[in-house]
Amino acid sequence: MQVTSDMLAELIKAASDTMAEHDAEVTELDKTLGDGDHVINIRRGLGFLVEQSEEISQLDWADAWKKMGMTCMSKIGGASGSLIGTFFVAMGKDAAGKTVDPVVFAQAFNAAVEAMKARGKSDAGEKTMLDTLIPVANYLTENCGKTELPALLAGLKETAIKGMESTKVMHATRGRSSFLGERSVGHIDAGARSTQLMICAIAETIEAKL
Ligand code: ADP
Ligand code: MG
Repeated sequence: MQVTSDMLAELIKAASDTMAEHDAEVTELDKTLGDGDHVINIRRGLGFLVEQSEEISQLDWADAWKKMGMTCMSKIGGASGSLIGTFFVAMGKDAAGKTVDPVVFAQAFNAAVEAMKARGKSDAGEKTMLDTLIPVANYLTENCGKTELPALLAGLKETAIKGMESTKVMHATRGRSSFLGERSVGHIDAGARSTQLMICAIAETIEAKL
């Protein structure tokens, strides 16, 4: 099976549904370490993406990611808006003019993570969404083009969950949670959790088609 960009409406809906389902839980995480608006920000962005999703599904991957990124940048508030917007625009730029196969997807995902790091002046181990995304990017580099889709998706979910869980023991050094210093230790980062939830929901939607 090939994952094609006309599946985007369904994938966006899956991301939106999981954030609705886990709204209270993730809001609590952002209340503990931040200001409690993370899910509002993410769901606001996803709401716009759902509205645009029919249109987005008609574009090729590169144009779809660029459009999604622009929407996230302009419509989502908070730190996460510009970070996630930057991520998708960078994916679109990296994939422009290419036929998106699993290897090209992994390259674009890695380029997007690098762009997010630069935008947030952040890296692994700082207790942010990057602690979900960096291990996922590495996993995709190692497995795309080698591992069959069912095993790839299973490993992808496992990697995202491990990354999210790794933030619990971290001391936050970026974003609002860094204001808490040592007191940030012992709690999962809201952005790491929301990112993991959306990645897992997307993987499950594709798995359901296999
Ligand atoms: P804000 O912090 O402005 O209220 P959100 O609540 O929407 O924005 O998003 C907070 C999340 O953004 C954090 O949980 C963290 O994962 C992520 N984040 C914050 N700052 C950075 C950064 N510099 N680099 C990467 N991710 C970050
Ligand atoms: Mg917040």
